[in-house]
Amino acid sequence: MAVVVMKFGGTSVATIERIQNVARHVKREVDAGNKVAVVVSAMSGVTNQLVSWVNDASEKRLYDTKEYDAVVATGEQVTAGLLAIALQTLGLKARSWTGWQIPIETSTAHGSARILNIPGDEMRARIDTGEVAVVTGFQGIEPTEKRVATLGRGGSDTSAVAMAVALKADVCDIYTDVDGVYTTDPRIVPKAKRLPKISYEEMLEMASLGSKVLQTRSVELGMVYKMRTRVLSSFVAPDAMQAFDPKHIENIGTIVCDEDEIVEQQVVSGIAYAKDEAKVTMLNVDDKPGIAARIFGPLADANINVDMIVQNITPDGKKTDMTFTVQAGELPRALAVLKQAQADIGHFDIKSSADVVKISVIGVGMRSHAGVAAKMFKTLSDKGINIHAISTSEIKISVLIDAAYAELAVRSLHTAYGLDSD
Ligand code: ADP
Ligand code: ASP
Ligand code: MG
Repeated sequence: MAVVVMKFGGTSVATIERIQNVARHVKREVDAGNKVAVVVSAMSGVTNQLVSWVNDASEKRLYDTKEYDAVVATGEQVTAGLLAIALQTLGLKARSWTGWQIPIETSTAHGSARILNIPGDEMRARIDTGEVAVVTGFQGIEPTEKRVATLGRGGSDTSAVAMAVALKADVCDIYTDVDGVYTTDPRIVPKAKRLPKISYEEMLEMASLGSKVLQTRSVELGMVYKMRTRVLSSFVAPDAMQAFDPKHIENIGTIVCDEDEIVEQQVVSGIAYAKDEAKVTMLNVDDKPGIAARIFGPLADANINVDMIVQNITPDGKKTDMTFTVQAGELPRALAVLKQAQADIGHFDIKSSADVVKISVIGVGMRSHAGVAAKMFKTLSDKGINIHAISTSEIKISVLIDAAYAELAVRSLHTAYGLDSD
């Protein structure tokens, strides 16, 4: 008998029929003797609708984030109740739970709160009796003011992994609208291949570099607590899948696991792209010690995350150009902060564009293989694609290019690294 956490995303619970389909997936596990907690997202499109109502109701989008959370957390409550009803209709014992009831304790950062603690004993005792716990994803309660707090978009993945850790589950199964993690977004590259396994580290890079199949924080949690996480399709017929069995884990979907569990490691495992990037170029900045601190200090103080940074070398050593990227949504604020800091920075001209994308190739094999970056640059240059900025880490290389070339770049790189399916 195993403890299984099953998470179903927005498209998987988009209609009553799909919720009934989800109920049948859950029943399969219960019938096999597994103890089950389910984490659900809001029905597809609902969170977007709630966010847009908040925006419309506020002036210049300067809303109170506590009230933003009060509104956007409601979507999950609807799905949890509906799924509990669908489960009861199938003859199962089931009860729905919101974040504050469990309680899923979070930080006070409304809109992007982190889970701090989940006391799992009572829930565990309940599921041990055979009752299915249906838990709202994406939300918790911050203990100081006892207000609902949400975890950032895509946060139900994180709720699921955190619940799995709290319940000491044997597996956290993330059911979604694709049947696993692919070498790149299968909606962009039809020749993308499903990866039977991917290491936590690579998945972490993929997620943080734009592959939204798992929220970054959920992978971080999985990695820290060594929670076995699988990505599976909810659209496979419930009776066509085997119930979870820790002694024989079926080779369906993708297992996120430790690197040493993967026998045949590729040099490049995947390609990610992120559209929400913006580029800022500061021209004719004084080339002298301390200038970078005067630019990036105020940005950091304003909580603006800077990602790629390129500084040009100037022949005369007097003036330089500095290019960097921020999240597209932060661009207006970044420009305002720099303007404010002008007196301290000295003279500069400034250009910015949100018409850029970041393309990244990821693979733990890069640690021991040379030439991965060279191949990336050659592939892009053969297609006439200009690179604005580059950044690297031990297991990834990212480039910033014009948004118009995003799909061409991803497809060409996918072929160049031998990732295309036959
Ligand atoms: P859910 O609503 O179930 O949480 P999401 O839309 O958040 O689902 O995530 C699933 C989507 O992630 C897929 O439909 C797919 O388009 C996208 N995606 C991006 N990169 C990848 C990848 N490397 N592998 C699989 N899916 C990916
Ligand atoms: N419903 C939330 C969102 O759309 C959380 C989630 O689906 O994971 O972002
Ligand atoms: Mg998601």
